[in-house]
Amino acid sequence: MLDQDFRRWQVGQVRITRIVETAPVVSPVTLMFPDESDALITPHHGWLKPHFLSPEGEMLVAWQCFIVETPDRRILVDTCIGNDRKRYFDIFNDMHNPFLEDLRRAGYPPESIDTVLCTHLHYDHVGWNTHFVDGRWIPTFPNARYLFGRVEWDYMIGLAESGDWQHAGHVPDSLQPIMDAGLADLIDVDFQVCEEIRLFPTPGHTPGHVSVHIESQGDVAVITGDIMHHPLQMAIPDKPCAFDHDKEQACCTRRSFLTRYQDSNALVIGSHFPEPTAGHVRSDQSAWRFDT
Ligand SMILES: [Zn+2]
Repeated sequence: MLDQDFRRWQVGQVRITRIVETAPVVSPVTLMFPDESDALITPHHGWLKPHFLSPEGEMLVAWQCFIVETPDRRILVDTCIGNDRKRYFDIFNDMHNPFLEDLRRAGYPPESIDTVLCTHLHYDHVGWNTHFVDGRWIPTFPNARYLFGRVEWDYMIGLAESGDWQHAGHVPDSLQPIMDAGLADLIDVDFQVCEEIRLFPTPGHTPGHVSVHIESQGDVAVITGDIMHHPLQMAIPDKPCAFDHDKEQACCTRRSFLTRYQDSNALVIGSHFPEPTAGHVRSDQSAWRFDT
């Protein structure tokens, strides 16, 4: 990745840096909305292009993590997919990305990270929790406390015990080694990480999903997690998304999140939104759009 791709945002005294792992990936509309067609997107081309749709009008999605640096903390939010994995989706299998080199080049060697936060425990948000060294998975961030939601942990372990390989096959390589190393703290869905950062519950995509509210010197930002995978969902918040565990709950969560941050100076950072990734939520008749 080139240096200019280390996009950074300043929020009061907090600096947020984006490290892209995989992007942009073209996603057909039917992956998220199986009963729909391109006609779902067509009315929104005007504000979704050029950043969030390909020239052909297909959805663009990114996988990335965020370093949230306060005056005295270095916090990594969501650790992407990771290298050397066996995953259900072909494009995520056995990847070899320069993610750790990119972290170092951005000024954040792994040993300097003091906290790893996961908005939820799906495989594409926890992968770099570990890396493969001398035949085993070991923690990538040896000096960090890893904050896992207690509700998420119970959910994911339940899936693993039921043999759900598609959704829980990453537990042995990305989660259990952190627990075994004694680096994990199981936290509540409403949790103050430090003076500037608070996690708040945004359930639906998964039962214990959280979003990350950042506030410093009057400036506000929020990292969405997977309450939305694409800005299109701001315009159609009630449309059930195939990726959501509890679709009805996810729709309610999207609406309350968008209402909370609409028409304000809050910088909304979309976990799966490709470049430029951040913008503002604007109310638009009975729904919303994303203004970058
Ligand atoms: Zn995700």
